[in-house]
Amino acid sequence: MQEVSEKRTIPIPEEVREAYRLWRPTPLVRARRLEKALKTPARIYYKYEGVSPTGSHKPNTAVPQAYYNMRQGIERLTTETGAGQWGSALSFAGSLFDLDVEVYMVRVSYEQKPYRKVMMRLFGAEVVPSPSTQTAVGRRVLEEDPDTPGSLGIAISEAIERCLSQENTRYSLGSLLNHVLMHQTVTGQEAAEQLRMVDDYPDTVIGCVGGGSNFSGLAYPFLRDRLRGAPPKETRFIAVESTACPSISRGEYLYDHGDTGRMTPLIKMFTVGHEFIPEPIHAGGLRYHGMAPSLSALVRDRLVEPRAYDQVESLSAAVMFARAEGLIPAPETAHAVKAAVDEATRCRETGEERTILMLMSGHGLLDMAAYEALLEGRLTPFQLPQKTIDENLGRLKQLYPFA
Ligand SMILES: *Cc1c(COP(=O)(O)O)cnc(C)c1O
Repeated sequence: MQEVSEKRTIPIPEEVREAYRLWRPTPLVRARRLEKALKTPARIYYKYEGVSPTGSHKPNTAVPQAYYNMRQGIERLTTETGAGQWGSALSFAGSLFDLDVEVYMVRVSYEQKPYRKVMMRLFGAEVVPSPSTQTAVGRRVLEEDPDTPGSLGIAISEAIERCLSQENTRYSLGSLLNHVLMHQTVTGQEAAEQLRMVDDYPDTVIGCVGGGSNFSGLAYPFLRDRLRGAPPKETRFIAVESTACPSISRGEYLYDHGDTGRMTPLIKMFTVGHEFIPEPIHAGGLRYHGMAPSLSALVRDRLVEPRAYDQVESLSAAVMFARAEGLIPAPETAHAVKAAVDEATRCRETGEERTILMLMSGHGLLDMAAYEALLEGRLTPFQLPQKTIDENLGRLKQLYPFA
């Protein structure tokens, strides 16, 4: 019901607040040393979600989702995970409310990030590399390409198929949907209060986007000020994606499925096509073909600016951030860091004292393979060829001519 609710606010249940207290409120940090390193007159603040139990913003929605399922008498959750962040978060949340959790993990991440797998098992979950032979969708994909790196789209299809074939089981999604974005607004609401304490308000709000949840969670409470009229400032909202999977900057606004196996309802969103399998970049959480429908509508209406960076420039900015602030960003987060660095650098040139607010969606302490590749010069700056996007969207438009 939260997915289709028209209510302005929905209270956070006490049991969820109690779990949130394990790590919330999260710190809002002024990045003074980064400002100095960039010689910028801008004030850079980051809201740091890396202090959560699994190191990202994802438990903000995993906990309420597990709680509501438990209340309904559900015994098992199935889900997919890309980089392993969502799987870890749901495994943790399942352990809080005594639910079994079954995670389909995109194969390339399963191999690149073995410790995420261990973290999920530590919290009691079962982890399966996707595509797998446990589902019809997985078997079909493996028949066509036994060496496929897998994708979030395929893993979602497998998790849904497993959910439908077991009793008392629900499928849980960690991004994209309205209720997920709403759960994430806890970060934006906290940031607004924290900025009020220092009498500041953002001119620029920045977040990285895979399915759109961490960005929207931070941005929507500020966008509400703007949409209600008379906002304190004419704030810009910048959503940063990967050039390897550029749905909002180079995709089209169409009806598409959320998954490769076409099991989800059609969703109106920016997409590069549900058949698209992105290059195995290190920012696994940004390897998703679509974008949250509400965020897509805001991009269409030009209230949110899309931007794309490749993983080399992003991780390089993250290294600079780490050397200044002492925190190592997740590869996904590195894309937001790059945008914040670029915006602050522009302020140096124009002399503008802008307030930049960024969501640090997670830490990268389990992503050393990505940083190792960068430091050894082995990282590739993938750009998705236009031809691939056109071909994928051409097939989609043939499939659904009305879209
Ligand atoms: C999953 C993830 C993302 C991308 O997902 P969104 O739903 O767009 O937020 C970004 N950063 C981190 C650290 C993640 O784990």
